[in-house]
Amino acid sequence: AALHEDFNLDALATWAPGKPVPFAFLAATFEEISSESKRHAITRLLTNAIRAILATTPGDLLPAIYLCVNQVAPSHAGTELGIGDAILVKALAEATGRARDKVQHEYSESGDLGVVAFNARATQRTMFPLPPLMVASVFSTFREIARTEGTKSQEKKIKLITKLLVASKGIEPGYIMRALQGKLRIGLAEQTVLAALAQAVLLERGSKSESSNRDGSLAGRLQAAEQAVKLAYSQCPSYDLLLPALLAHPIMEVNEHVAFQPGVPVKPMLAKATTGITEVLDKFAGTDFTVEYKYDGERAQVHVLEDGRVAIYSRNSEDNTKKYPDIAASVPRLLQPGVRSVVLDCEAVAFDREEGKILPFQVLSTRARKDVKVADIKVQVCLFAFDCLYLDGRVLLQRPLTERRSALYSAVSEQPGELLFATAKTSADVEELGLFLNESVAAGTEGLIVKTLDSTYEPSRRSAHWLKLKKDYLEGVGDTFDVAVIGAWLGKGKRTGGYGSFLLAVYEPGEEELQTISKIGTGFSEEQLVQLSEQLKALVIPAPKPYYRYGETLVPDVWFDAKVVWEVKAADLSISPVHRAAAGLVDPTKGISIRFPRLVRVRDDKAAEDATSAEQVAEMYRKQVSTRTYKEVAEDY
Ligand code: ATP
Repeated sequence: AALHEDFNLDALATWAPGKPVPFAFLAATFEEISSESKRHAITRLLTNAIRAILATTPGDLLPAIYLCVNQVAPSHAGTELGIGDAILVKALAEATGRARDKVQHEYSESGDLGVVAFNARATQRTMFPLPPLMVASVFSTFREIARTEGTKSQEKKIKLITKLLVASKGIEPGYIMRALQGKLRIGLAEQTVLAALAQAVLLERGSKSESSNRDGSLAGRLQAAEQAVKLAYSQCPSYDLLLPALLAHPIMEVNEHVAFQPGVPVKPMLAKATTGITEVLDKFAGTDFTVEYKYDGERAQVHVLEDGRVAIYSRNSEDNTKKYPDIAASVPRLLQPGVRSVVLDCEAVAFDREEGKILPFQVLSTRARKDVKVADIKVQVCLFAFDCLYLDGRVLLQRPLTERRSALYSAVSEQPGELLFATAKTSADVEELGLFLNESVAAGTEGLIVKTLDSTYEPSRRSAHWLKLKKDYLEGVGDTFDVAVIGAWLGKGKRTGGYGSFLLAVYEPGEEELQTISKIGTGFSEEQLVQLSEQLKALVIPAPKPYYRYGETLVPDVWFDAKVVWEVKAADLSISPVHRAAAGLVDPTKGISIRFPRLVRVRDDKAAEDATSAEQVAEMYRKQVSTRTYKEVAEDY
């Protein structure tokens, strides 16, 4: 939500080529962006802002981009903003000379610390105007705040924040507060920032120097640039490495200069859902493919570096090394002689070492998340390795699966209970595949993943070269849905005090919208409901975000910042007059809803942007229609 029209543009008077970019410029850009809901308008605003920075002070682009994505370092570095409210309220009280209770009260009333900070500073008289805040110095202070640890860290943080607030003017304090909370959420998703970055660099540089595409239309060149930058980022998700390369080389070559490197996790390759063996055989007709067990645990990208360090990254590129000290200790011991560095793609699965048996995901989810000590581990984990992305200086992403698999087999050796290779089979026979699917289920896995043998590793792609065959396909709707929880209705009766039901949404990446798909109110234990309500209470926001799409007749009692993702299973999909999921994709105006959703698990490893996409919903709906007809035909017969 916008804070105010006062952009404090006086600060911009000092900005000239070579001079630092004032923070007021970025805050004004955020302000404009926050009142837009259309994707292309947001991208355009950000593109223009980046162009201005490129034209005057390109050295400030890196801190500016980090401020836009509300981070202080790449996700895998684990340094995060998200300062606790208590610290922020204290700092704001100190900076404005007001009572802490009063600040806290206003915060409870408005629900937005940014608004409280803006109002507090707007009514405060300053004796000696301080020099304006600059993008680079705000960023470095943010970084310092995020890194401050240990004794007296709270006081140190408050001091740094107070200093920023005292120097802030106009709308700046509002954005400083929101950014420190880690809730900037003006609708700037990573993909938008990457698109704007690519467009700005191309336009600013003048397309002449981008010789490889000289002949294309501007729209075509912009699109190609966007793809090149997104690809580079997916292989090496670090602005620290991407930006220098982008500024030094033609965009279409950026990929050659920000290659994958061990220690920086790639965004994992993802698989597509299918309805069954017949569909897989149809899709892969004429290609060689292999079938692997689909283990039900947590994705683990294991990096062993030359200097002996080991890092384990989650599906979201977060550093999970401290969660799995046991894996970190065992993998180096399992390296084959002569192997010095390797990156493995695996699933970490709860494992009963005595019985030599895979345990269900629910067991893994009881394992502590942080700072696990090997001696305290109760839930043992076995890695099931299925891919190798890097081996001793060779980047294997562009190599076919057959080669990556040989690399995998040659890099590490199996050790039951610690590391095993994913069970695989190569067959194109329906009967055999059916038996293998049953075997996989009996072995405690979720089913199969079918992969073409000549496919490369496609970071962050939901690729048509990896198809899921889940055991669920044998019953009801094929896949489960991952949905963002965006609102709730207050509980009644036994549920008074908590929430009784929730509004769920899927993600539409084109417009970056969260579109409602269902209301869920059953299938929870009362205890679970209390726990879920507790977690969600912290995310209440005063009004829906501009990118929430919901039906006028289904407005929840409270709205949430969409940070929680649930995996749900449903009976079927239908065209809905109320819900907005995939609106325009199947029916020209109506959306799709899922009926009788049931919570399967909370997906801590997913953000709202990783929720099931509108297109996937549409695809499942279309498939359901065709299988239904098939079933009906069979019944008639
Ligand atoms: P997605 O990750 O595709 O968004 P999801 O997290 O809900 O979806 P699934 O759709 O169930 O997961 O399946 C994909 C996941 O299965 C992978 O991300 C990976 O963690 C896991 N997996 C287990 N076994 C394998 C395997 N042999 N090959 C690839 N992935 C596997």
